[in-house]
Amino acid sequence: MSTKGTTDTQVLVIGSGPTGLLLAGDLAAAGIDVTLVERRPHGLANMTRAFGVHARTLEQLDARDLADELVATGTPLGSARLFGRADLDLTRLPSRFNHLLVTPQYEVERLLERRAVTAGVTFRYGTELRTLSQDADTVTAEFTDADGTPLTLTARHLVGADGVRSTVRSALGLPFPGGSVIRSIVLADVRLAEEPADSFSVNGSGDAFAFIAPFGDGWFRVMGWSRTRQVPDTEPVDLEEIRELTRRALGTDLGMHDARWISRFHSDERQAPSYRVGRVFLAGDAAHVHSPAGGQGMNTGLQDAANLSWKLTAVLRGDAPDPEALLDSYQSERHPVGAMVLRTSGALVRLAMAHTPLTRTLRSLAARFLSAARPAATRAMGMISGIGIAYAPPAGSARPAGRRAPDARLREGRLYELLRAGEFVLIAPEGRPPALPGSAPVSPDRLVRATWRDPARRTSVLVRPDGYVHWTSN
Ligand SMILES: Cc1cc2nc3c(=O)[nH]c(=O)nc-3n(C[C@H](O)[C@H](O)[C@H](O)COP(=O)(O)OP(=O)(O)OC[C@H]3O[C@@H](n4cnc5c(N)ncnc54)[C@H](O)[C@@H]3O)c2cc1C
Repeated sequence: MSTKGTTDTQVLVIGSGPTGLLLAGDLAAAGIDVTLVERRPHGLANMTRAFGVHARTLEQLDARDLADELVATGTPLGSARLFGRADLDLTRLPSRFNHLLVTPQYEVERLLERRAVTAGVTFRYGTELRTLSQDADTVTAEFTDADGTPLTLTARHLVGADGVRSTVRSALGLPFPGGSVIRSIVLADVRLAEEPADSFSVNGSGDAFAFIAPFGDGWFRVMGWSRTRQVPDTEPVDLEEIRELTRRALGTDLGMHDARWISRFHSDERQAPSYRVGRVFLAGDAAHVHSPAGGQGMNTGLQDAANLSWKLTAVLRGDAPDPEALLDSYQSERHPVGAMVLRTSGALVRLAMAHTPLTRTLRSLAARFLSAARPAATRAMGMISGIGIAYAPPAGSARPAGRRAPDARLREGRLYELLRAGEFVLIAPEGRPPALPGSAPVSPDRLVRATWRDPARRTSVLVRPDGYVHWTSN
């Protein structure tokens, strides 16, 4: 079994954005010694700012007892309108969280940071990773602190959650292929004189589009794009530009005023070919980046973290029968999801920008198809919300292994309440505990054991700490 041994810490996590905070908090809660290194000084806000938390992310937060508190900070939206006409009814999602929660990214980070501190993560703010190297047992990372003093730390594993310009990715020599998908997007957080008719609406003539989403505390996020104003990110943007663009896209600017934040940015579409090189991993924006359409970036990073944390824990505890295969499954499970997110957010943004007769026809067809074909809309909602994402079954297992475990009612409570222990949950019929498969990366004394509430259920199910089915008895 690997222990802290001669390294300074068991896991070094680089970057305290949402991805790094969730990962470090999970590891520390499982008793792993973890150091989180962040180049920002303590208290300086992270400026990459998501505002939508999807259903599957809320389920992951529920499994950490954070979801109800987060939901109280935001506005749940039960529907999303695409291309001005296709309404996706999120209330049909088979989840306790059948909505999109509009809340600022800093609320998510505040809760995750509090949890990480309570769990015992060692934070090192104002410390920047410069480079790293690794051998068969150890990763060695070189940093400079705020006054330029060099620092070396060693660990059993290192995770780069250091965002789109990841130093970890560069130090590994990994490419980040792709390109720019959309330039000169403007955004502002504003107050409105009139409430929008649609709480979340995307509209557009092909020359301009905009959408407005409520934070629920009187502030609204407006985001827009104009084909006729394509300028570098450094070009100043004022509220009048955003008002004018919104009028063109939506027909009204809803009397927006008092912007507290205005910004212009561009968006790339890129993915690292490998999320693992030896003892080093990439997660979140360090591994993939795409357009903000669909609000997927932070959500995908949090799911990466939830997938990786229990695997690193099992390996460091010595509970994994095949540690290499378990760590490789992070790549085989999460890389295809990242690729899918690039495709869907890319399709959404390209259709929103459509301006040739052919592409506008395609947009109109896509909107009509999603409005008329319920299975297609359900599938689209499943992918965007994360609820429909499933992994390939582990070798030797059949479906439903790899699928998301729904929040079953058990004698001991809801499944996602039991997952708060951060361990595998074995659900079995009363009085019939099954023999666990030898391949399960868990020690029997750490299992949370539960019983179906419904006595008619005869199968046993082993649920992973991230809420996916690992194995069923038949
Ligand atoms: C305008 C806008 C709107 C968005 N809307 C949404 C949305 O609605 N939904 C959604 O899911 N996503 C959205 N996103 C994307 C989302 O903000 C990002 O995907 C998310 O922040 C990524 O989290 P992360 O933890 O992977 O990386 P980051 O949040 O980028 O955090 C990386 C951290 O690493 C630190 N760091 C970097 N280099 C080093 C180093 N060398 N040493 C030490 N520390 C380092 C950085 O200071 C930073 O704190 C949006 C993004 C933007 C810009």
